[in-house]
Amino acid sequence: MENIETICAVSTPSGEGGIGIVRLSGPDAHKVLKAIFRKAKGGGDITSRRMYLGHIVDPEHSEQIDEVFAVFMNAPLTYTREDIGEVYSHGGLAVQRRILSVMIRCGARLAEPGEFTKRAFLNGRIDLAQAEAVLDIIESETDEELGHAIKSLEGVLSKKINGIRNQLRRALVEVEALIDFPEEEIDVDEKEVLAGVECAEKEIAALADSYYEGNAVKHGLEVLIVGRTNVGKSSLLNALLARERAIVTPLPGTTRDMIEDTIHIMGIKVRIVDTAGFGLPRDIVEREGLARVKRKIPEADLILWVVDGSRPYSDEDREVCEEIGKRRKIVVINKTDLPRLLEIDIPPESPISGIEVSALREEGIEALKTAIYEALMSKERRANAILVTNLRHKDALSRALTAARNAVSGLKRQEPAEFIAFDLRDAGQCLGEITGEAWTDDILHDIFSRFCIGK
Ligand code: GDP
Repeated sequence: MENIETICAVSTPSGEGGIGIVRLSGPDAHKVLKAIFRKAKGGGDITSRRMYLGHIVDPEHSEQIDEVFAVFMNAPLTYTREDIGEVYSHGGLAVQRRILSVMIRCGARLAEPGEFTKRAFLNGRIDLAQAEAVLDIIESETDEELGHAIKSLEGVLSKKINGIRNQLRRALVEVEALIDFPEEEIDVDEKEVLAGVECAEKEIAALADSYYEGNAVKHGLEVLIVGRTNVGKSSLLNALLARERAIVTPLPGTTRDMIEDTIHIMGIKVRIVDTAGFGLPRDIVEREGLARVKRKIPEADLILWVVDGSRPYSDEDREVCEEIGKRRKIVVINKTDLPRLLEIDIPPESPISGIEVSALREEGIEALKTAIYEALMSKERRANAILVTNLRHKDALSRALTAARNAVSGLKRQEPAEFIAFDLRDAGQCLGEITGEAWTDDILHDIFSRFCIGK
């Protein structure tokens, strides 16, 4: 049997805090805790799942290190499914370092990053997608992000993946029957097999597609403010951020490079980027600024094309329009506080008609935020669907989708059953990578090295 070591780590952030938690996990957790903890009242053993007040002492010279609470939890109903000890000490670097050092002297070793969660996975308490959700919860900045991470931790994504895998497995059983008994009259309803695989394919595609929005929830999206000079781009950035971020002056060409900042719109992280204005560049800096905007336009998730409502449509506006082309955009008609002189035909391919705002008076900004949200997010997402937020999962889903598609076309073209079985197995294996049915040391290393020590 493998020799399992007992690990220890500080599980709270390092630095000063009201309390700090030092955690132990492994077969010697009880022994180590007993060696270093003295109850304040009464002797006797440390019973599982009871919180005791007492002291951590250095067993060598019985010196008290800190007054603490301590708890022991016996396996298997623990985070790691191993015996766990936790010490709630004062939250200071020196204190916690000393507690760790006595734990190590009594037989524990320092945990690697994410090792507690890795053990929870290896001991079968959670699957790999759930282990990754733990990290997502820790890193969540918005309620939206947190909501999706908690759903994943509860196993919503894993259940969905397992459901699709079962569907593929049922099809595989039928197809394998054709391989094993080619001569016999076996009753395989090929239409039903095809329908099953097609259904699985659709579900994989939907999950893979949700990555765009899942990624938006996790990493944010980029919204580029573009337009000719002096239409109010910088003012709009400031109004969206509700603070003075960019310099606003009546002089054209104040913003010569990109200025960006992040806001949250209904739980989505949105990076708003103000750019240099279109117009005849007066110097080399302006020329480079404009070249950068043009390079950036194709990469942005959404473009806010700002036009000045108080001035006639100009050649420069036309140039901006041509540069944006068919990119996803919202036309923002600014300066509605001034008399309207602009006559603009909103391009018919624009999904959203113009939003009128006054950046100066901060009017129409909420409507613009709603429009940004709607342009970025599809209906499914608003209906609270399962979202794939993890690139590793997206990659596995894309490979599963290719394999499932091959199986569907193979079935339609009545290719040899061996080929179809190969694709079905391949699709199933790719999906298995998500939940960790099939894992390698490299995969585990990639995932858990992103955790902090103590989780
Ligand atoms: P940019 O060159 O497109 O970034 O434009 P700025 O934000 O620097 O604004 C150019 C000028 O237009 C400044 O004098 C702003 O005060 C003015 N401005 C911006 N937004 C509005 C608005 O909504 N109404 C009015 N009346 N003036 C505005």
